[in-house]
Amino acid sequence: MIYEINETHDPNLKSWVESANDPNTDFPIQNLPFCTYKNRFGANHNEMGVRIGDQVIEFEVLVSGELLSKAEVHPIYIEDISTNSATQTKLRSILSQALREDPDPQSKTEITTSLVPASECEFVQPFSQIRDYTDFYCSIYHATNVGSMFRPDNPLMPNYKFVPIGYHGRASSIVISGTDIKRPKGQNRSDAETPPVFIPCKSLDYEMEVGFFVGQGNDLGSSIPIGEAEKHIFGLCLVNDWSARDIQAWEYQPLGPFLAKNFATTISPFVVTMEALAPFRTKAFEREPGDPAPLGYLADETNEKFGGIDINLEVFIQTQKMRDENIEPYMLSRSNMKDLYWTIGQMLTHHASGGCNLQTGDLIATGTISGKEKSERGSMLELSWRGTEPIDLPSGETRRFLEDGDEIIMKGYCERESFRRIGFGECRGRILAAD
Ligand code: MN
Repeated sequence: MIYEINETHDPNLKSWVESANDPNTDFPIQNLPFCTYKNRFGANHNEMGVRIGDQVIEFEVLVSGELLSKAEVHPIYIEDISTNSATQTKLRSILSQALREDPDPQSKTEITTSLVPASECEFVQPFSQIRDYTDFYCSIYHATNVGSMFRPDNPLMPNYKFVPIGYHGRASSIVISGTDIKRPKGQNRSDAETPPVFIPCKSLDYEMEVGFFVGQGNDLGSSIPIGEAEKHIFGLCLVNDWSARDIQAWEYQPLGPFLAKNFATTISPFVVTMEALAPFRTKAFEREPGDPAPLGYLADETNEKFGGIDINLEVFIQTQKMRDENIEPYMLSRSNMKDLYWTIGQMLTHHASGGCNLQTGDLIATGTISGKEKSERGSMLELSWRGTEPIDLPSGETRRFLEDGDEIIMKGYCERESFRRIGFGECRGRILAAD
């Protein structure tokens, strides 16, 4: 059961991998997220791992041993386990037991042999191929903020409370945290009196989002009932949907974003599973009285009770000047995923509702996650109110949008009384000058 708390969530569990017991680690024994990284010896394949503290368990080493035979699975790649939640649960239980203080000696030996320091791993995308990427627009606060810049009297479109709005993104330009982002060039028409010019983007922005990976897909022509939706979700990561606002403003009508969004999307390397997130489930967004109820195919009692996820999201910036002067990254915003108007279950069900086949490894992102407060705005467009209210940085600099050399660092973590804090690691990227 997806929402069920079991012994792997016990907050008192400690690991013999000492770094996993650090109260500040994102990766205690209660988390155990999956990741993929390059083979360290130059072999022509990638390795699947599970992160624990500052170490990674290498599955290729583990797969021939006793420990995994118990689970009757021999996963080498994330594709091998992402489609089967029963196997994931078995695997999580076995790893949790083998990693605890006072494990049986044989298990400890097997795991010890498989450990690789995370600092030696070059992480890549978790799935060998993200075949499709979809981005939603599910924060009503973000949608209202952006809408009111362009349509002050009528910020929210009439469809918003009925249909989870999204667009099909570009999978080929998804990059892993730490990859530099080259400022895109594109058409800019800031002066309505003159024709557009093709220049480096002037209003480069980030978007704080969460993404989820599809595990088991659905057949073309079939759909996924809302009550089944989360069984198709393997786990979550952080997403930065880099956005060129000036390009977007000129190109987006009538078909939506195109080149403004397809030059790069950064993801964090660790897939936090739905089971690890069980203690942090919360009710879906509470709609205002007078708001329409979701249409039948998007309505479900369990989804309403547990469909939300309480994930704290933080965005930091560090400019070149800040790095030169040893000034720590500065926090731009803090928001929470539980404030989304639509749940990930509703996003997935809606996506497949017309018969679109979702496939293993598809990435579906939530859209910018903003909250009610000013400090909860998940993009620079909103923080600087389209550039009209520049942001002051501790270096004495100001920002309306991102400059070359700026680095954006996103973090996510779950915290709840009586449970161990777990985190997502980082999603970072630095802006390079355009060609
Ligand atoms: Mn987005």
